[in-house]
Amino acid sequence: MKILVTFAVLAFLGISARASDLKYAPSAFEVDGVKYTSIDIQSVNASWTFEQEDQWSGSAKFTFQVKQLGNPVILFSPEAISEIKLGSQTIQSIPVVKDGTKLRALQFKAKPGRTYTLYFNYQFKAQAGEKQFYFQNNYWEGRSFEQYIPSNMLYDNFKLNLKIDIRAMTAYNEIVANGKIRNVEPGIYRLDFPAVYNGGSFFVDLIQAQRTPVLRGQYKGLPVIVYQDPSQTITEEELQETLTTKLPATLEKLESLYGPFPYSSVIVKFASDLFAFAGGITYSHRWDQDYPGDYFLHELGHSWFLRGVRPVNGAEVWIGEGFGTWLEQGSPRSQTLFNPEFKNANFGCSGEYSQLEQGNGHWGGMAFLGDLDKMLETRGGVSPILKQVFLEKKFQAMSNKEFKHLLEQKTGLSLEALFDWYIIPTAGCPAPNIQ
Ligand SMILES: [Zn+2]
Repeated sequence: MKILVTFAVLAFLGISARASDLKYAPSAFEVDGVKYTSIDIQSVNASWTFEQEDQWSGSAKFTFQVKQLGNPVILFSPEAISEIKLGSQTIQSIPVVKDGTKLRALQFKAKPGRTYTLYFNYQFKAQAGEKQFYFQNNYWEGRSFEQYIPSNMLYDNFKLNLKIDIRAMTAYNEIVANGKIRNVEPGIYRLDFPAVYNGGSFFVDLIQAQRTPVLRGQYKGLPVIVYQDPSQTITEEELQETLTTKLPATLEKLESLYGPFPYSSVIVKFASDLFAFAGGITYSHRWDQDYPGDYFLHELGHSWFLRGVRPVNGAEVWIGEGFGTWLEQGSPRSQTLFNPEFKNANFGCSGEYSQLEQGNGHWGGMAFLGDLDKMLETRGGVSPILKQVFLEKKFQAMSNKEFKHLLEQKTGLSLEALFDWYIIPTAGCPAPNIQ
């Protein structure tokens, strides 16, 4: 009986997760009389084989549904695509730019309600002199994993199974990732990621174990990894201190304020810049001198907002970045409301297909949270409310409208004026911002 109940719950969660992704998918658009539709990926089974130097070959089985009738658009920008198959039919694809996002349109008309499976064969480059990561993301350009697998925008959770074949490789010999890793035979790894990840969640790195010592420990029974890129010069003492003191203290602080850490492992990589994945961060001292702040706390905080509760698209990136910056600056409570610097900043006015924050959502989002913290001064501030939002929306996309609704429901306050000031004008977004 217990087993049956578990299966029933899983089946229900599976169905609801898929339905909600299409709910958040942006509307279809037309270019030169052709209608393009967003999609909901159900699973990606990809296989990467190292060829030589920076060259890899990839193949992927890609299963999805479309939101509306039209040619499906996905995020996929490898070096080259040699073949796309739908059953026995060969499919072509073309690049399409929408709201500043480089999409790939598949040249066939798909219908809602049907599940499609495509097979891709492709080539990609990795490493190529980049230091931060073997499989590099570029947050500031809004690029995450679509250089390496067929993927999708921020609103979409999907299951990724990844086989990595590094038999032809000599230097790199160990994989660090925020999923389950099985070394099935020498040089061949199978990685299995939670179905609640999106394209911005994946942390996959190849390292040279002999050059890059990896410190391992535990946090409340979860495996923890602390290491550094060979380009960095972090002392053994600092790595140790991070593993045994700084990381657990920071996670405990975040857990006490915002609810349990939602992942099954923790990764900290010291590298050339700061970045956040699902339960993993890259960390650097590069900002410390110029801009004082606790950047370690900022990046780990993204496990709660940004990678935990996700943006639907670029219009909600300010929520995670505002939260991170607010934490980093010591959670300041505003002295006065409505910071004049961010009047009509319109952080929530990005186009539906945008993947990037508009304007300075980092500092503006901090001002918004500081104001809310001031408004809730006599009730313990904004943190207890954010904790409730996190527990309710963990691993889901959250629109600005939903965020406003949740905040109003939980505080009993009307936040129309605050959202109007910083996020979205009550009268609607000005037309020029919707590209
Ligand atoms: Zn951030």
